[in-house]
Amino acid sequence: RPSIMSGKRGLIMGVANNRSIAWGIAKAAHAHGAELAFTYQGDALKKRVEPLAAELGAEVVGHCDVTDGATIDAVFAEVEKRWGKLDFLVHAIAFSDKDELTGRYVDTTPENFSKSLLISCYSLTAIAQRAEKLMKDGGSLLTLTYYGAEKWMPHYNVMGVAKAALEASVRYLAADLGPQGIRVNAISAGPIKTLAASGIGDFRYILKWNEYNSPLRRTVTIEEVGETAAYLLSDMSRGVTGEIHHVDAGYHVVGMKNPDAPDI
Ligand code: NAD
Repeated sequence: RPSIMSGKRGLIMGVANNRSIAWGIAKAAHAHGAELAFTYQGDALKKRVEPLAAELGAEVVGHCDVTDGATIDAVFAEVEKRWGKLDFLVHAIAFSDKDELTGRYVDTTPENFSKSLLISCYSLTAIAQRAEKLMKDGGSLLTLTYYGAEKWMPHYNVMGVAKAALEASVRYLAADLGPQGIRVNAISAGPIKTLAASGIGDFRYILKWNEYNSPLRRTVTIEEVGETAAYLLSDMSRGVTGEIHHVDAGYHVVGMKNPDAPDI
């Protein structure tokens, strides 16, 4: 049966384990017919990513640490060798020193500011530079952001600033790459318990708050983010670029606490 992603080949960057948002996206893309390749960050994650990739009959194309441009070049060279081109790419990568994901934003150090912005924001541009050359028939780039880019959130701090810059990058990259038929979009996901999220102070409180106050009165799953991603990565969304699409059970439309919500 033809499916919305049949014949599409994509690179998935940012799987750490089976709770990663990138894994939810990979599962959905595979279910819709896409062929996938994965990168991993370091040997510790290689052991986790390899069996997951095998579950989807996919290839692992190598180690990529986005702070080291040579490793980005190496994985793109490998993709070119295997496929000759690329149709879509998922960027699900972010980092901040855990010590600064608590307390006040105003106390952010210049070192962590630079590192967080480099890994969580600039890396999308670094990857887009390489992807542009391989997306010979156009393509779709997708990144992950969070509502903390738009509004203050407790503990999110420098990541909120990095995500705001990432969302602006989506718009600038969309304009630069649009003439070649390359689309650039982001999913703004509601809070999900992942490895990266466990670094954020009081994350359980944030999950509960979203569950009680979002219009759908629940949080979202990696599978739900994955299904929306499949739409953004496929030709179903061929008229969409530069978009920040919320998959957050509607939380971003809420202006006040739900008066019926229990105390947390
Ligand atoms: P995760 O821990 O599963 O994934 C984060 C990934 O970033 C890991 O695979 C890690 O290897 C990778 N990474 C970090 N530094 C890197 C580097 N220098 N080079 C290469 N890779 C690096 O957590 P996740 O929640 O699935 O995060 C994926 C994306 O989703 C992130 O951008 C995150 O900010 C975003 N997001 C998460 C939530 C949430 O609540 N979990 C909500 C909205 C957006």
